[in-house]
Amino acid sequence: PRFSDFGLAPEIQRALSDQGYTIPTPIQAQAIPVVLQGRDVMGAAQTGTGKTAGFSLPMIQQLLAHASTSMSPARHPVRGLILTPTRELAVQVAENVAAYSRHTPLRSCVVFGGMDMKPQTEALRRGVEIVIATPGRLLDHVEQKNVNLGQVQMLVMDEADRMLDMGFLPDLQRIINLLPKKRQNLMFSATFSGEIKKLANSFLTDPVTIEV
Ligand code: AMP
Repeated sequence: PRFSDFGLAPEIQRALSDQGYTIPTPIQAQAIPVVLQGRDVMGAAQTGTGKTAGFSLPMIQQLLAHASTSMSPARHPVRGLILTPTRELAVQVAENVAAYSRHTPLRSCVVFGGMDMKPQTEALRRGVEIVIATPGRLLDHVEQKNVNLGQVQMLVMDEADRMLDMGFLPDLQRIINLLPKKRQNLMFSATFSGEIKKLANSFLTDPVTIEV
């Protein structure tokens, strides 16, 4: 397939041309149509497979269908949430999301620990549709009422196996409890341990499994 086969918005296709992407990678070819159908996904994919675009592009497409043009932060509720284990990955994913959404009105920001809260707080309070975050720092911002997760429509857990290895399970459970019950969930992991399957069973609904 080609990217033009997926029915992505022209604004997204323009961003793909900017990036010089024409042919989807195998994980993208499998994930994009399934995510656009609204299904939950369990994806087995390593870094370097193009998994970031595999979840970011259909997320942007789904959120775009309900984009607000208002400048009021109240009209920019967080509707897409991407969780990552490390600040390096969060920054990388955020750069991708910013590039893929640059011709759309969707706004995004990244929050991670080990850094001053204030610039992140200001970015959150300006209003963003997509937040890319490490779990602990996201909860800090929730506690300080810098962000409300009550309108999240789509959740992505990237490198879920590393999040478990790093002891983020309690934080993940706390975050999931703050989200609407009705939402779309995507989970990506390089490995498929029993623990990962347990996590997938506890928060994915009838997922489509994708392996590359
Ligand atoms: P990822 O596995 O998401 O970290 O992506 C690995 C690298 O592949 C990143 O540098 C992407 O910018 C690049 N990439 C992702 N999808 C494509 C594509 N369809 N065509 C060319 N490059 C891509």
